[in-house]
Amino acid sequence: MKTLQNYVNGSWRPSGTADYLDVINPATAETLGRVPLSPAAEVNEAVQAAAEAFVSWRRVPAPDRIQYLFKLKELLEEHFEDISRTITLECGKTIGESRGEMRRAIENVEVACGIPLLMQGDILEDIARGIDEMMIRQPLGVTAIISPFNFPGMIPFWFMPYAVATGNTVIIKPSEKVPLTMEKVFGLLDELDLPPGVVNLVNGAKETVDAILDHPVIKAVSFVGSTPVAQYIYARGAANGKRVQAQGGAKNPIIILPDADMEMTTRIVADSAFGCAGQRCLAASIAITVGEAQNTFTEFIADAAVNRVVGNGLEEAVQMGPVINQASRQRIEHLIQKGEDEGATVLVDGRNATIPGLESGSFVRPTILQNVNPAGEIARTEIFGPVLSLIHVQTVDDAIHFVNSGQYGNMACLFTNSGAAARKFRYEAEAGNIGINIGVAAPMAFFPFSGWKDSFFGTLHGQSKHAVEFYTQTKVVIERWPKEWSRQF
Ligand code: NAD
Repeated sequence: MKTLQNYVNGSWRPSGTADYLDVINPATAETLGRVPLSPAAEVNEAVQAAAEAFVSWRRVPAPDRIQYLFKLKELLEEHFEDISRTITLECGKTIGESRGEMRRAIENVEVACGIPLLMQGDILEDIARGIDEMMIRQPLGVTAIISPFNFPGMIPFWFMPYAVATGNTVIIKPSEKVPLTMEKVFGLLDELDLPPGVVNLVNGAKETVDAILDHPVIKAVSFVGSTPVAQYIYARGAANGKRVQAQGGAKNPIIILPDADMEMTTRIVADSAFGCAGQRCLAASIAITVGEAQNTFTEFIADAAVNRVVGNGLEEAVQMGPVINQASRQRIEHLIQKGEDEGATVLVDGRNATIPGLESGSFVRPTILQNVNPAGEIARTEIFGPVLSLIHVQTVDDAIHFVNSGQYGNMACLFTNSGAAARKFRYEAEAGNIGINIGVAAPMAFFPFSGWKDSFFGTLHGQSKHAVEFYTQTKVVIERWPKEWSRQF
């Protein structure tokens, strides 16, 4: 069986740990490899390599640094199908979703190629007679990225290209559930001939993360994962003096007004709720119908749920793959039961799913809970599976009030034909990513991924100008050169 290695100081290194986890294909239950849970000493080796590399990497001119990214873009395009396939194998999502994910990853490389422009500071001559003042941006040093299981290819790219392009060095700790994708990506990074230590890969889980959070040389941590862990990372990293951006979980509401185009709305909401088996941080989790929208939408979405083609994500015709593992399946089925116990009707029941030929896979079919208790636990808990809860209210104000009463603020969407309702919603909704007749309001790489409330801890988000600011510190220089000193020339 394949045993994964770490990538440190420009070469692959086996971990010395005795602790390994199996990497499992969630569709077939086949074991794909073993991932080491690297101890603190191995994090330290990566940090030492990254710290040494930083000394000269920050001196490489920005236009030269981005040449590596242009080459990386080319390699990612060349290996696009192979990496996408690996994502589906270890994560379960459909091959189409994996390709979409890698497209977004590449987009971030493209944006980071603009660093010579994006990293510029400001200067003002003559802030007083003969005195000039400038603000310049300098890299931080060694930075770390800790990522979740649901986008093994894309999420490290919300950060890594910007960190490298701005002159930092990087350590990536992928999710231990899906480490094979970053192994492929580091195979390509290895071909770039970057100076050793600029990018490093350390596999592991909690112990590895804690070593990152406590290491005095690491200056910044970028995290994406569940809210309890995001809170923990933010608090511990900050207590250790680090700059931290921590993106957390979500419970995304979608409001449907009676004037929405119901066919289009249903198609889009079904993709949002059931695409990626509901394991997107931007998955629709609650649909709030207003007034007369209830009957038509309920009928249409139930139909879409029943008819979604579930199976092995590698087959092109499949529309939804498994959830990540059996533990997740059990958790989701338990939450569906909980919803029923709280008074909801299970309109479409995806529990106890068996897919012919994939009997050992971790499948939950699309599920719809009707008349969910708005004050209950299910209306507030991130299920992270293909389960859509339906809630009904009489007015837009009631719907927005419900949206804003939630703990999370990752995404909120509205389906309508009314510009006035759309503007009111955009203005009042307390979420960082807003969709108007859009089901997955995922910001492109040239906008920040703007979670709010308990979906984000920090100030600067991933992607775009926020990432450039996060990975640089500003320095202000005030200069005076008296005239008499220049007389000698
Ligand atoms: P997770 O929080 O379990 O794990 C994320 C990372 O943290 C992994 O690398 C893991 O090894 C590490 N980790 C886990 N427990 C830890 C602990 N106790 N101490 C230190 N490190 C720990 O998340 P997940 O299950 O891999 O991913 C799903 C979650 O991520 C969902 O909640 C989803 O909403 C969220 N997510 C958020 C965004 C966003 O942009 N806001 C994007 C994708 C996923």
